[in-house]
This record gives sequence, C-alpha cells and structure tokens, in this order.
Amino acid sequence: MLSNKLFEEAQQYIPGGVNSPVRAFLQVGGTPVFMKSAKGAYLFDVDGKKYIDYINSWGPMIVGHSHPKVVEALKQQAEQAVSFGAPTEQETMLAKLITQMVPNIDLIRFVNSGTEACMSALRLARGYTNRSKFIKFEGHYHGHSDAFLKKAGSGVATLNIKVNAGIPASVVADTLVTSFNDFESVETLFRENESEIAAVIVEPVPGNMGCVIPKPGYLQHLRNLCNKYGAVLIFDEVMTGFRLARGGAQELFNIQADLVTFGKVIGGGLPVGAFGGKKEIMSKIAPLGDVYQAGTLSGNPLAMVAGYTTLSMLNENPQIFGSLQKKTEYLEIGIREVLSKKNLPFTINRIGSMISIHFCSNEVTDFVSASAGNNEIFKNFFHKMLLNGVYLPPSPFETWFLSDALTYQDLDETIQACQKSI
Ligand SMILES: *Cc1c(COP(=O)(O)O)cnc(C)c1O
Repeated sequence: MLSNKLFEEAQQYIPGGVNSPVRAFLQVGGTPVFMKSAKGAYLFDVDGKKYIDYINSWGPMIVGHSHPKVVEALKQQAEQAVSFGAPTEQETMLAKLITQMVPNIDLIRFVNSGTEACMSALRLARGYTNRSKFIKFEGHYHGHSDAFLKKAGSGVATLNIKVNAGIPASVVADTLVTSFNDFESVETLFRENESEIAAVIVEPVPGNMGCVIPKPGYLQHLRNLCNKYGAVLIFDEVMTGFRLARGGAQELFNIQADLVTFGKVIGGGLPVGAFGGKKEIMSKIAPLGDVYQAGTLSGNPLAMVAGYTTLSMLNENPQIFGSLQKKTEYLEIGIREVLSKKNLPFTINRIGSMISIHFCSNEVTDFVSASAGNNEIFKNFFHKMLLNGVYLPPSPFETWFLSDALTYQDLDETIQACQKSI
C-alpha cells in the first residue's frame, strides 16, 4: 500500500505525519489513508481504491466533492487574482447572502478557520460585556485556542488528553465547564458567578463527542439564563451552520443567539470561518470599536467564491436539507437492522445529515455517556468498513456527515458493508 510508504515519509517531516491530530488514526490504529482525488460522494486513495465518504472533509463538502459549479468558480477566480489584502466585492456578496439565509446576523466578519471564529467571538463577548468568565460544555469543541481546550471534545477527547500542556492556568481560570443537557448545573454556575459571566458558548447540536441531541427546552434554557444574567449567547455553528437547515440550528430550534460562529460548509472546502450577530455587539469590533481582530488572508477571494457558490446552491435548493435528512434516516434504519441482529450494544444518534454510533447500551446525551462506548468494537468496525470501501471518521468522538451527492445505491452499499463488517 502506497499510503504506508507516504505516511512513513510524512512522519519524518511533519509531527505524527499529519497536520491535524484527528487524521492520525490514533484511536483506531493502523495507517491513515492518503487521498488523491474526490468526486461527488467518493474518495480515491493513492492506490486508486474507492471509498464512499462520510467525513466530507469533516463537514464542508455538503454538495459533494469537486462540484462542477464550485470548480468553475475557483478556476475563474484564480485567473482574476488569488489574493489582494484589499477589499473585494466577493466578500460583500457572501456576507449579504449569509445575512439573508441566517437569522439574527446584521454584521459578519470573515476569518480563516472555525478556531479563529470562536476565539474572536469570545473576545468580542468579553469586550462587549466587560466581563471575563464564560461557560462551555464538556466534550464540546470550539477550535484549538487556549481558553476552549479545557475538557474539549474531538481530537482532545480522542487522544484522551486530560491536561493540555502549554496553556497557563491563568488563561483557563475563567473557563467554566459544565455538563451538556444538564439544566441545573449551568444555572448553578450562573448563580455562583452572578454578573461575571460574559458568555455561554455552545454547539447547539454537539458533534465533537459523536452526535448528541439537545434535550427539549435546553437551548431555550440557555437563552433564558443569558437574558437573565446579561450574558452573550454564542452558538458555535461551525458544524451545524448551513448543514442542519438554511439558517442553521437557530432556525431549526427557533432560538435567537447573540453571536454565531461559522466554519466548515461556509467555505465550500476552502479555509473560511466567520462570526456574526447583532449590530450592537458586532460594532465593538475594530475598526468600528476597540475589540481588535484581523487577518492577512481573511476574506480571500478564492475562499469567498467557493463559499458563495456552495451557499447559493443551498439557498436556491433548500429541499437539499430535507433530502439529506431522508437519506440519513434511511441509513440509520438500515444500519440499525443490521446491528440489531447481532448481540452488540449500540446507540445511534441522528439529526439532519449528522449521525453517529456509540457501541454502548446507554443513551448518549453528554460527554460521560458518550465515553461509555466500547472502543474495541469501534476499532474493528471502523477498519472493516474501510476495507469494504466506506470512509468513516476514525473516532467515536466524531460525527459522520452525509453529502447530497450520496445516492440510495451508495447508502445500500454502505449498509451491505456494515453487514459484512459486523
Ligand atoms: C471544527 C470545529 C471548530 C474548529 O474549526 P477549525 O476550522 O477546525 O478551526 C470549532 N467549532 C466546532 C463546533 C467545530 O466542529
């Protein structure tokens, strides 16, 4: 396998051979597959083996890989210019489109990753409220900036890192962490830190400990607490934005956030993040206000056109969200049937085009219950699926994402692969 050779070489020059730890197959063992090309719902590795893709670049490729419209837009833009570091019309076009698609966004600032978006949104919330403490939830991931890594999900959970080295205690002293879906504990934190909480940041549908569904009323509970205590409610929609609905989780659950962060789908596969919200808060950002935030390549024209083209397709064909949900439901029913025949404990969580399996018998509603899964079963399942041509996230602390390019035949093949694998 060429991947083995390429991985060996990569490790000589890149720490662990990867530029993001979740790619390293550490939880499942073995060699990460090196990819060569992708089209629609499929990936092709360096040996030419084909996979049905359920990672989709960890979310962005919602309309499928190398969509002709996105490729064409990128080609045209590349011939015009790759980067200026000066304002372009493309930035306004994408910003305007987003304000039309997403509720409660008066102003939006583009950055280059979800990490930057969350980091900047927190700074803004702190600057706006003149407070420093904030609340986050165990197993939620808001990128790799210092303040958020405490009890984070995704790769931090996968690698089982309990104490993140390199982060001064003083920097996380104001990070208050509690359990998701627990109505009481978050209220207690507010009561104990009255008039000190700048913000609550939440993945409205957590996807970085597998997929977890908010309990009915929980997001509204957070909204009410933020209102009562004067804190900024930040919805981290890096994963859920433009995936769960045209207007994201805010639209789906009918909850108004004060600030919203984006990433993943918003760039259509190029490095883009953004944060936006109410004019009153967003006007605190430089150059309008004194909360500083900047970026040499922010609003890069190639990234803007890839995002604009992708979001336009979603905006013009919102039935995509319904069709994705039906496909995901079909997949769940098929996999459930296969797994039910075996004597295996499993829990499947699903919403929209997000789905995950935990090999445990308990309900999965927070990080503790998400951690109860049997890793040996997951490991075996993952590798057999890979062998059978299905590319799943290499950790139970990650969500599978479906793309609209998937056909029902692909889904049947996935269910058959599951039958063979289990
Ligand atoms: C992926 C993710 C991030 C970080 O985005 P990057 O682009 O990887 O920096 C932040 N929040 C959530 C919810 C994510 O899923």
